[in-house]
Amino acid sequence: MKFLLATHNMKKRAELQRILDPIGVTVLTAEEAGKTLTDVEETGVTFEENAILKAEGGCLESGLPCIADDSGLEVDFLDGAPGVYSARYAGEHGNDDKNIDKLLLNLKDVPEEGRTARFVCVACCMFPDGEKLTARGTCEGRIAFEKTGDKGFGYDPVFIPDDADGRSMASLSDSEKDAISHRRRALCLLAQKIENRKMNKE
Ligand code: IMP
Repeated sequence: MKFLLATHNMKKRAELQRILDPIGVTVLTAEEAGKTLTDVEETGVTFEENAILKAEGGCLESGLPCIADDSGLEVDFLDGAPGVYSARYAGEHGNDDKNIDKLLLNLKDVPEEGRTARFVCVACCMFPDGEKLTARGTCEGRIAFEKTGDKGFGYDPVFIPDDADGRSMASLSDSEKDAISHRRRALCLLAQKIENRKMNKE
């Protein structure tokens, strides 16, 4: 099964393909599919709204089934911020260092037990016949006091997942991250829904 993937983030793309490979789903970027996609403005206030906006936009423009995800970090002490604004928390889209600096500053005086947080991912697949499937995955953890590790992207250096051994997400290997990640949880659920749709159509 081949799907167009609505993202320009190559690290995220690699992660998505790694997760989807074993279940026989191949994702193509717009360039690989020979399509040009207009950037969709993420105007939604929930992960669901933004994932749907991106998948719908990609599908309508290309005529191909399109997968998109929207993800981010929810910090309990900050009432769920940065949430859907995770990529632009410090103002500039995708500046991971500045985003982390702002987060650590905002949690400066918060003790370990108050630093609970989760990564959230909502994945959406939009089909040219108008059907859309969505799935949500989360990964619980807490925010560290300083950065460690050099893998992954985004907030990985300051996120300590509950399901690992105390190391930050950026210190885990690709397969260790994939085993517990919000993205994997959302995509596995989405892949199941795609499979069910296929069986219902046959
Ligand atoms: P999106 O591309 O609109 O989904 O933005 C997601 C933003 O949330 C990224 O730029 C990161 O800052 C953050 N984020 C989402 N998933 C992860 C992850 O797996 N690790 C670290 N940061 C993440």
